[in-house]
Amino acid sequence: MTVLLCLGCCDVYEFVYPDQVPTIQPASELIHFKALINTSSNQSKTMSPEECCTSLRPTLEILDKVCPEVSQWARETHANNKIEWINSSQVNFYALYNVMNGRVRISKHFLLENDGKKASILAHEFRHSRQGSTKFFKATVSYLLGHDPNESVMELDAQLFEQQIYLAIFR
Ligand SMILES: [Zn+2]
Repeated sequence: MTVLLCLGCCDVYEFVYPDQVPTIQPASELIHFKALINTSSNQSKTMSPEECCTSLRPTLEILDKVCPEVSQWARETHANNKIEWINSSQVNFYALYNVMNGRVRISKHFLLENDGKKASILAHEFRHSRQGSTKFFKATVSYLLGHDPNESVMELDAQLFEQQIYLAIFR
């Protein structure tokens, strides 16, 4: 009962203070073409963290046109040393945002995707960085109640934003 009351309060709070979702611009034909290019070599395993970040330049240029808030966030996160590159054999995800400390772990496997796909994955993690505490609270309660974390309100919200960016680039 208390949990339901708290969740109800969260809904009222979110109604009054909604999360800010940035505007997405449809990509031009030129960006669409560029987004399909896979600029990464399969030598990503041996790339240094700095080389990994440098290889993101075309991806960030696409985001500069489609949703500059995402590319700005990615550059700031890199500048603040909050991007950690990990070998793909260690993990089963492309990227993971840590709500507690704002750090993003990115698997080097991610670098093998084309630039448009990479842009949409970064958008997913950006969205997590902007989700309010009420979504976090709801997701935590849902997890404690035994629901699949991949279907939490936070995850579905981030997936929706990721898909919107993907469509803006590729449709
Ligand atoms: Zn997610």
